[in-house]
Amino acid sequence: MLCVFCEHDASAVRSVEYIIPEALGNKEHVLRRGIVCDGCNNYFASKIEEPVLSSIHFQNLRGRQEIANKRGNIPFQYGISRRLAFRLPSGLRKMRENL
Ligand SMILES: [Zn+2]
Repeated sequence: MLCVFCEHDASAVRSVEYIIPEALGNKEHVLRRGIVCDGCNNYFASKIEEPVLSSIHFQNLRGRQEIANKRGNIPFQYGISRRLAFRLPSGLRKMRENL
């Protein structure tokens, strides 16, 4: 089977492609092996998903929605002031939600 992106042989791939990144809570929407080659899968993970998902906006989104990563960690939320970004501890996060 050929990779849908680069059309190289993808019949021996070891990884699956998450249609929606795992870091956004997706556990079930996965393309079966052989649809995307390891090279393209790694490229999208390292060059697109990682920079986007590590941005403060996605970190705050995941923190607010309490979306855990593969290891079960929920990111801190960051507060924004004019001059600095600061972490909002989970205890304060809970207090804010109850206001
Ligand atoms: Zn490919």
